[in-house]
Amino acid sequence: MEKYIANEKRYADTDFMQRCGESGILLPKVSLGLWQNFGDAADFEENRALLHYAFDQGITHFDLANNYGPPPGCAEERFGHIISSSLAPYRDELFVSTKAGYEMWAGPYGNWGSRKSLMASLDQSLRRMQLDYVDLFYTHRYDPLTPLDETLQALVDIVRSGKALYVGISRWPLEATLYGIEYLRQRDVRCLCYQGRLNMLDQEVVESGILEAVRREGLGFVSFSPLAQGLLTDKYLHGIPEVSRMQRDASLRKSLLTPELIAQLTSLNLQAQKEGKTLAQMALRWVLDHEGVTSVIVGARNKAQLADSLGCAKG
Ligand code: NDP
Repeated sequence: MEKYIANEKRYADTDFMQRCGESGILLPKVSLGLWQNFGDAADFEENRALLHYAFDQGITHFDLANNYGPPPGCAEERFGHIISSSLAPYRDELFVSTKAGYEMWAGPYGNWGSRKSLMASLDQSLRRMQLDYVDLFYTHRYDPLTPLDETLQALVDIVRSGKALYVGISRWPLEATLYGIEYLRQRDVRCLCYQGRLNMLDQEVVESGILEAVRREGLGFVSFSPLAQGLLTDKYLHGIPEVSRMQRDASLRKSLLTPELIAQLTSLNLQAQKEGKTLAQMALRWVLDHEGVTSVIVGARNKAQLADSLGCAKG
């Protein structure tokens, strides 16, 4: 493989970066998530090309989790392989996040939010990614059975250990989130951001007050599934393509694609065309226009999809 040298102009568009809440961290308006398209089934060279392309475009933030794949763990492994073979010289330009909280290994400690589970999971993630530390470590979901203080103290101790520079909260309900932010603050640990789903088809984080509350608390907000897993693109307007997430009928169920939804998407697509945008670009712009949103984490499968999505933020 030819030695990778990053595009010299990758930071030329200074508007592409946005401050994450009231922190010292700037994040790109478009970040890349490695949930479903970096598994063993994906083409390695295509994955590598996508990461290089993303970085060349100024995307510094890559979002992972212990269980991303499939199979679980292999997205981190593949990411680690690519980092160590070509992106290692740029490690200090990268902002890498990972998470723990969903089922990862057998037995009572491979899931949820105990100290044991979070600490062991982060150690595993670091090994898979061949990194000394991650920039951001998230509790991936709210655990109703583990005392909140146990989960939160594990986050404090993870920061103190230097294995993560910042911590974040994903998918917690409002009240627990506010408790967590305060718990961490009292121990001089910054909760950098909240990661939640916000897109044109799902505005629950707005309706529940989470987006506004975390903004008031000085956190950033990063939105996952900003394209509703691909629904908010033109790909499902005329049925289910052979190569598509919905074809797998797992995280994106075929039963979702009702005539009503297709009519709604068709109308949004027409609106986007009138604005001279693709539906994906309009949908991402819509998320970014919310006060308090720092970044949309897109799950692009290839360079063409990412190039299209970047059109929402690049002039
Ligand atoms: P998206 O809403 O961006 O959906 C990604 C899918 O949309 C792609 O796989 C592709 O589908 C399709 N797509 C993307 N861009 C285009 C385009 N321009 N034109 C046509 N189709 C397009 O995001 P994800 O649902 O993948 O989530 C993004 C990231 O958010 C994840 O990788 C992960 O990092 C994070 N996440 C976090 C969660 C949490 O609990 N905290 C939960 C879920 C995600 P196809 O493959 O069919 O072509």
